[in-house]
Amino acid sequence: MRAAVYKGNQQFAIEEMADPAPGPGQLVVDVEFCAICGTDVHAFMYDIAPPGSVLGHEYSGVVSKVGQGVERWKVGDRIVGGGGEPPPTLATSRGPRFNYRNEGFPLNKVRAYAEQVLMDEWEPIAIPEGVSSQAAAMCEPCAVTVHAVRLSKMRLGDTVTVLGAGPIGLLCMQVARAAGAARVFVAEPAPARAEAARRLGADAVIDPTETDVIERMVDLSDGLGPDVVFECAAAKNTLDDALQMVRRNGQVMLVAITWEPTELLPPDWMAREVGVQASFGSRPEDWRIALDLIRTGKVSMEPLITDASLLPLDDIQQAFEALCRPSTQLQMVVKHG
Ligand SMILES: [Zn+2]
Repeated sequence: MRAAVYKGNQQFAIEEMADPAPGPGQLVVDVEFCAICGTDVHAFMYDIAPPGSVLGHEYSGVVSKVGQGVERWKVGDRIVGGGGEPPPTLATSRGPRFNYRNEGFPLNKVRAYAEQVLMDEWEPIAIPEGVSSQAAAMCEPCAVTVHAVRLSKMRLGDTVTVLGAGPIGLLCMQVARAAGAARVFVAEPAPARAEAARRLGADAVIDPTETDVIERMVDLSDGLGPDVVFECAAAKNTLDDALQMVRRNGQVMLVAITWEPTELLPPDWMAREVGVQASFGSRPEDWRIALDLIRTGKVSMEPLITDASLLPLDDIQQAFEALCRPSTQLQMVVKHG
């Protein structure tokens, strides 16, 4: 099989690797779609991923081989590459609160920028009828936003702001709406992303390069500020913006990661006793909820993934280079085969 191997120094090489063979209790998945995650882009940009690793954790595919003793899956089953409930012994060995992002960038695990992935029987979840494999590849990022919304103090009827309309922001606004947010405001400078937020029903989309985003968000939410701000931008000043615009006793949810020191000016917001809650990765139940939101149409992938989003494995180097710069792209997805 072919795989995009990370070589270090912002370089991928497409290499031939041995096809994986399933051991007892394992299966092999032929990857169909693998979405490019912002975390992978950061791993590339800041050279965090170890040389030799094969990244890609947002994927869907078809079971092509099953090992001895596998009962849950058969050849031809469509799956999402994660979301399964680990067996209790494994869950406790990985800590009491199993989370899908705690693995980081493992060297010993070839993931879905390869044509095939070896999985343990418990790892994948089935794609329900009526959900395309393309949409199902986005289950992981959707689960990340489900995790954030469920962890937040957001309640039915709340006013919410989402900073950043990249894939995570666009999913987060839909999930917040599904969870009962009455009004959802979005801040996003890139026109294509702002337009996607509008198409997905944002009540207002603000360009922070043209408007004072703090003042505007406070105005829009009756002069009080939003109840909850989801920080999905991870730009230089967005965390401080979030803290400044949120309502008294409101909450800032940290969803996207900034890999740089961030300046904060506490006198502007500490008197309002705002709360900050970090949200990281997702748990198995978040994946099941995400898939159900996709199945029922409460979360749409359509404005995120267009024909222009799909690229062959051979173009992965250019795609990552493009995603390092502020861009017009929404979600980029590797389409195998
Ligand atoms: Zn991801």
